[in-house]
Amino acid sequence: MNAPAPMIRLTTQRHIILEELAKVKTHPTASELYDMVRKRLPRIGLGTVYRNLELMADSGMILKIEVGGTQKRFDATTEAHYHIRCSICGKVDDINIPVINELVAQAADTTSYLIIGHHIEFTGICSACQQHQNKTLAQ
Ligand SMILES: [Zn+2]
Ligand SMILES: [Zn+2]
Repeated sequence: MNAPAPMIRLTTQRHIILEELAKVKTHPTASELYDMVRKRLPRIGLGTVYRNLELMADSGMILKIEVGGTQKRFDATTEAHYHIRCSICGKVDDINIPVINELVAQAADTTSYLIIGHHIEFTGICSACQQHQNKTLAQ
């Protein structure tokens, strides 16, 4: 739940960006999305993709996530959900557990802030990096 967002027009460019973003579960960065979108819109620039992503995130059409202080990533899933980031390769995945609303209630009891949201980021080691580590250790 965020503050009321300005409505923006769904231009062809935005529509294609949204379609490409919705195809993947990888939470791509702006430049990763640019590579995907460019296959369909060869003339589009990285700056245009970036600006559109920011606008779409501001309007609530997509989610902008900033995990572990790394590059901004984007997500077509706008419902509240949690993320896990691999501390080795930086891969970001969804964690499919119910959103903990009691956490907001508990926090609200301790602060005069009006709480409008919360983010939980898990950190771990993805399966590919675990396998790589096991191989390295076995050598
Ligand atoms: Zn990894
Ligand atoms: Zn996500």
